Amino acid sequence: VSKRIGIIGAGTAGLQLGLYLRQHKIEATIFTDRTPEDYTSARLPNTVAHHAVTIQRERALGIDHWNTEDHGYFGHHYYLGGPDPLRFYGDYHAPSRAVDYRIYHPQLMNDFTAQGGVIDYRPISEADIDTLSAQFDLLVVCTGKGGFGKLFARDAAHSPHEKPQRQLCVGVFKGIDQLPTRAVVWGASPTQGELIEIPYLTFGGMATALVFENHIGGDLEVLTHTKYGDDPAAFRKLMLDKLATHYPMTYERTDPREFDVANSPLDILQGAVTPTVRETSVALDNGTIALALGDLHATVDPVLGQGGNMASHAAWVLGEEIVAQDVFDHRFVEVVDARRRDRVLAATRWTNFMLGALDTLPAEFQGFIGALAQDRKLADEFTDNFNFPEKQWDVFAHPARIGAWLTRDRSQNDLVGAAAG
Ligand SMILES: Cc1cc2nc3c(=O)[nH]c(=O)nc-3n(C[C@H](O)[C@H](O)[C@H](O)COP(=O)(O)OP(=O)(O)OC[C@H]3O[C@@H](n4cnc5c(N)ncnc54)[C@H](O)[C@@H]3O)c2cc1C
Repeated sequence: VSKRIGIIGAGTAGLQLGLYLRQHKIEATIFTDRTPEDYTSARLPNTVAHHAVTIQRERALGIDHWNTEDHGYFGHHYYLGGPDPLRFYGDYHAPSRAVDYRIYHPQLMNDFTAQGGVIDYRPISEADIDTLSAQFDLLVVCTGKGGFGKLFARDAAHSPHEKPQRQLCVGVFKGIDQLPTRAVVWGASPTQGELIEIPYLTFGGMATALVFENHIGGDLEVLTHTKYGDDPAAFRKLMLDKLATHYPMTYERTDPREFDVANSPLDILQGAVTPTVRETSVALDNGTIALALGDLHATVDPVLGQGGNMASHAAWVLGEEIVAQDVFDHRFVEVVDARRRDRVLAATRWTNFMLGALDTLPAEFQGFIGALAQDRKLADEFTDNFNFPEKQWDVFAHPARIGAWLTRDRSQNDLVGAAAG
C-alpha cells in the first residue's frame, strides 16, 4: 500500500506528525519556508508551554531533549487582583516545559531528517496544491499562510468571534527572579488583562516569558502598541509601571536595573489572535484529501496555553490513523476527526469561555475562583486539567456544572489514588 505523506509547514503540528511517521517507517516530506539556520535571527514567534501530556509524546518520539528537572516547572500560582486580592497555588501531576520555538523547531527538523524524513525548503501556496496532490497519497496542511486559511473554510458554528479578544504584548526577559520552585504565575487584573509569567528556556538559558493579554480599550493596551526599538528605556519603564500597578506578584521579584529583553529586541512580539475553527479537510480535484492540522484547524487565544498542545495531540492521533489505515478518503477523515474533535473543540470552547468570564466576571465564576483559593485539592485538579481541556470544558460548559464540580464527592478518587499509589 502506498503511503506517501506530504506535510506543509514545519511547526509543532507538522514536525511531530513527521517524526511519528518516520518512527513507523512511513515516507514523509515536509515543505517549509525556513531553514534551521533562519531561526537564530528570527523574531520570537510565541512562548509555548508544553504540558506533561505533550512531553510524554515527545519522550515517545525521542525528542525530549530538555530535562524537566532543570527546564520544566511544576504548577501555577494564581493571582487575582481587585480590592481583596487572591493568591493561591495548584500542582501538576508532572511538570510542564516551555522551550523557545527558535530552539525547539530547528532541533526537531534535524531529528526528522536524521530519521530519514525529507524537508523541502520553499514556500508553498494554494496554487501548488494540485501539483503536490499528484505526488502524495495524503496532504496535511499545517499553516494558514500561502492562502491555506482560505482553502479551509471558517467553521462559523465553532468560531463565535470575528476579531481578536485581547491585544497581546509578549516577550522574553531577564531580571525577574524565578520562584524557589519554578511555576507559572497566572495573574489577572480584573477587567484590564491577564499576565502569564512562564519559566522559559531561551538561547542564553532559563529566562522569563511574559504574555500580557490586554483587554481592548483598557489601561494595558498601550503595551501592544509601544515599540521597544523606538526607545528601549521608555518601553522598559512602561512595562515596569504596568507590572507594579496590575501584576504585583511578578513585579515583586523584578529587579528594575536588570529588567530587559533576554537576548535581543527580537524577543518582543506584539499583535493579536482571532480565535478560529476551520473545516478539517478538503477533497482536491484529483481526489486526494488535504487535511488541516494544528492552528490551521483551530486557532485559540494563548491565554490558557492550549494551541501547541492541541496540535501535538492531533498530530499523534493522525499519525496513528495513517499507520492503521490504508486508504485516505472521507472515511479516514471521519475517523481522525472523531478522535481529535473533543480535545480540540473543548480547548477552543474553554478558552473562549475564559476570555469572556475574565471580561465580565460572572458571579458563578468568581465563586469558582474563591473556592479554588480555599481548597488546595481543587486548585491542584484545576491546574492539572490544563493537560486535559475536555475535563475543563466538563466543568464550565453550563453554569450548573461549576457548582456540581466544586461540591463533587472526591473521596472515591482518594481511594483509587491510595490503591494506585
Ligand atoms: C504568544 C503566544 C503564546 C502561546 N503560548 C502557548 C502555550 O503556552 N501553549 C500552547 O500549547 N500553545 C501556545 N501558543 C499557541 C502555539 O504557538 C500554536 O498553537 C502552535 O505553535 C501551532 O503550531 P502549528 O504547527 O499548527 O503552526 P505554526 O507553528 O504556525 O507552524 C507553521 C509552519 O509553517 C511554515 N510556513 C509558513 N508559511 C509557509 C508556506 N507558505 N509554505 C511552507 N511553509 C510555511 C512556518 O515556517 C512554520 O514552520 C501560543 C501562541 C502565541 C502567539
